[in-house]
Amino acid sequence: MHYFEYKNGELYAEDVKVQDLVKEYDTPLYIYSARTFKRHFTAFDSAFKELKHLTCYSVKANSNLCILKLLGQMGAGMDIVSGGELFRVLKAGIDPQKIVYSGVGKREHEIEEALMADILMFNIESEDELKKINEVAQRMNTTARISIRINPDVDPKTHPYISTGLKKNKFGLVEDIALQAYKLAKDLPHIQPIGLDCHIGSQLTSIDPFLDALDKILEFKDKLSDLDIEIKYLDLGGGLGITYDQENPPHPSEFGQALQQKLANQDLTLILEPGRVIAGNAGILVTRVLYNKKTPTKNFIIVDAAMNDLIRPSLYKSYHKIAPVVQKNKTNKIVVDVVGPICESGDFLAQERELPEMQSGELLAIFSAGAYGFTMSSQYNSRPRAAEILVDGDKITLARRREIYMDLIQLEDNCI
Ligand SMILES: *Cc1c(COP(=O)(O)O)cnc(C)c1O
Repeated sequence: MHYFEYKNGELYAEDVKVQDLVKEYDTPLYIYSARTFKRHFTAFDSAFKELKHLTCYSVKANSNLCILKLLGQMGAGMDIVSGGELFRVLKAGIDPQKIVYSGVGKREHEIEEALMADILMFNIESEDELKKINEVAQRMNTTARISIRINPDVDPKTHPYISTGLKKNKFGLVEDIALQAYKLAKDLPHIQPIGLDCHIGSQLTSIDPFLDALDKILEFKDKLSDLDIEIKYLDLGGGLGITYDQENPPHPSEFGQALQQKLANQDLTLILEPGRVIAGNAGILVTRVLYNKKTPTKNFIIVDAAMNDLIRPSLYKSYHKIAPVVQKNKTNKIVVDVVGPICESGDFLAQERELPEMQSGELLAIFSAGAYGFTMSSQYNSRPRAAEILVDGDKITLARRREIYMDLIQLEDNCI
């Protein structure tokens, strides 16, 4: 569910005409719906209301400060993966005791910053990292609370680039190695193991892999209690999928009920790290048609958004629904590739897609662009990044101004 809807043939973001936003802010333009973010967060968070839990939104999905603040005000915690994300969530006023820090490559200064902020816990991905965090905590005369990320070796049946819980992935530790790591954690004086963590992948459209992982983790937890390691937090990561096209992912409430059955008798605080399911369908990317081009084999619509704005189609061959901002009833439909201006054949937003014939200057909306859209954008081909707008009812906030040419070179002072 989202609040990007057509009224009288025209696309609205909540109560605001998308065309009006484009008149003011130009294209390519990211538009987010606050009401959708709130709805998704509430649906997700309330699915676990019978369990002690903390919903830590995965910041990398969409890290705009306005979004972080909005979710923070609703009580969200945050799952971060870098010092930069820590900086953002602290700026957004998030309670450090609701922050968990994931990722395989935490740098020393990032660890220091997180200890300084006194975050809830680090999700550890290797013994080397554990030793490094102990060393930094010792130097700072403090203790780091940690979970160790287990790699449960379950197949999430999603795109290979976004499956993370298979043995061959770089993430987490397989059980016997994780057990060694917990023993080490228990002995290290500046480390306090309090949790167990896993995250098996993204865009999962079935609950079964989550439940398989959970079974393995609960078994593992018993092994830890034999070692007198008391686990208070169980972090199941993120990964719940959304509908981009025909997918039919489980509703969060279904997920919540399934977990509740397995966790009802456990004295644990459940941590969840949803990203895509909160942000994905809460944003669109609006682009303008530049040219039509016919070749002997294909029809192309060339638009002013490109892979630097939204890389998911190029990177994962992801499907994003694309539709005219102003609906067209009588025009012919043609099969087209929607491509951007970037000098790469991989620069496409859709391939072999049936769309109404579009004229230069007309607008297209690319749906489900709220997660892993702007956050994965770049300036490739020296294209200033798009602006981001947050709509709440009829209230419009420029959440990030469009970059200008000076933004492209402003850090190259030494060369000007
Ligand atoms: C990316 C990521 C998430 C969020 O994944 P979604 O599929 O967006 O829900 C959660 N936890 C970790 C550790 C991640 O890397």
